[in-house]
Amino acid sequence: MSKALPIADNHTHVNPVKGLGPREVARRFKRTGGWFMGVVALLTWDLGLNPGDLSNVDKMYRLTIESTKIIQGEGVKAVAVVGVHPAECVKLLESGWGFSEVKEFMIKTIDLAAQYIRRGEAVGIGEIGRPHWSVNEGVVDLCNEIIEYAMGTARDLNAIIHLHLERKGEATVKSIVELANKAGVKDKGRIILHHASPSMVKPAVDNELKPSIPVGRRGEFEEAVKLTKALVVESDYADDPRRPGMVIPPWRILSRINNALNQGLLSEDDAFRIMVNEIEETYGVKYEG
Ligand SMILES: [Zn+2]
Repeated sequence: MSKALPIADNHTHVNPVKGLGPREVARRFKRTGGWFMGVVALLTWDLGLNPGDLSNVDKMYRLTIESTKIIQGEGVKAVAVVGVHPAECVKLLESGWGFSEVKEFMIKTIDLAAQYIRRGEAVGIGEIGRPHWSVNEGVVDLCNEIIEYAMGTARDLNAIIHLHLERKGEATVKSIVELANKAGVKDKGRIILHHASPSMVKPAVDNELKPSIPVGRRGEFEEAVKLTKALVVESDYADDPRRPGMVIPPWRILSRINNALNQGLLSEDDAFRIMVNEIEETYGVKYEG
């Protein structure tokens, strides 16, 4: 290949408490061409913090932002995305909180994220959304109210949103478009569908939402890039030695992209578009390779 391909990871997590931590993750990523990383808040309990406590959520946000700064210090452009995962919402309900109590709390966590965005320390809200497993309708309605509130906040701040959703193709995308319209979102390209399935790619792009494709899921990335190049990719690395799971670490993205290049699924221009242009457009950052 003529020149080294810059690599971007749209959605990843780093765990400064239990994992390799931001410095080591950034170093490994950088060695494989990494130039950009979207650093997304974990779950409170991943960091040894308690769910349902706003000061603990604040600590989680601060750890995310501090990690982002450490990654930047290693020469990788990194942005922080802070918010409370829908799994926390469900956990609170399971532990006996009422719906209105949970909603009030989740709104406070979004308002808190907004403060960091206003100060320029974070660029977006996430990951928020709906559980990917099946829950009763009431929970889905509650999550939708929270999503709509977050969208309104993001609209006012011109911020990004990373949405964690079920993977039900067009139905999932449609419901997000409806919520975005209700919330008066003008630039839907700032709504990122994290962990999008190939079945969500076309409806997302048709509605100007941004699909983020997990490169660790064999076959899915290949299927997605056949449909469009208007996407971003993610590792969704959890930086948790006890949870290797289906994800790959950020420093393995390069080999997955090289595979796609070798198979002729992507041209070098396509790969550059996904790794650089789409990220620059979405986040307003500049690749200076
Ligand atoms: Zn994630």
